[in-house]
Amino acid sequence: MSAIVAIDGPSGSGKSTTAREAARRLDFGYLDTGAMYRGVAVACLRDGIDHEDAAGIAEMTRTVGLDISTTPDDQWLRVDGVDATLTIREPHVSAWVSAVSTNAASRAELVRRQRAIIAAGRFVVEGRDITTVVCPEAVVRVLLVADPVRRMARRGAELAGAVDEAALHDQVLRRDKDDSTLVNFTDAAPGVTVIDSTELTIDEVVARILALARDAGLS
Ligand code: C5P
Repeated sequence: MSAIVAIDGPSGSGKSTTAREAARRLDFGYLDTGAMYRGVAVACLRDGIDHEDAAGIAEMTRTVGLDISTTPDDQWLRVDGVDATLTIREPHVSAWVSAVSTNAASRAELVRRQRAIIAAGRFVVEGRDITTVVCPEAVVRVLLVADPVRRMARRGAELAGAVDEAALHDQVLRRDKDDSTLVNFTDAAPGVTVIDSTELTIDEVVARILALARDAGLS
């Protein structure tokens, strides 16, 4: 069985930063599955696909070329060969991505691609459905949660004043609500360890994840 640390959680829970740091410290690959959903959204926006065109979004997911780096210190994503590393973080992409993540056919295709990437290796994988759908057999499974007010503050700090309060609300709370239509990432599945990061530093969360990895014999 491949060595996988699976981390799920909502936006602003500190998931990406902690998952990347845990991967570095374990000397594992790192897979940011959210970047793949964002990459499909970029392709749909590029081709003018309507966000209600479920069949068009599903078809795009099946055909688009997504190349993603799994090196924690050198993250990039290419969409049909074109670098989209920065584009996928733009607010209009964040606002569009739920059209991909609420599309069941798109989810099935992205889950298939994610499993293919992690099949042969040692990875920290983060997303919304890693502990439950992509890799329920992972040796370490964590659900990272945090108080919604704290999550909005963290996302606001990341975006450094680039968005107003309403856009921030949209990016965190509206997106959580839409994201949870097909995936439950608020309740931990059996065997999943909940870490509440509200009052913890990044280092403290990473230390807890590394302790779980150690207990599971991964390091
Ligand atoms: O984690 P991040 O905010 O970059 O994810 C972008 C979007 O991708 C989420 O809002 C969610 O809609 C979707 N997503 C998902 N399942 C995953 C990872 C991300 O539905 N495993």
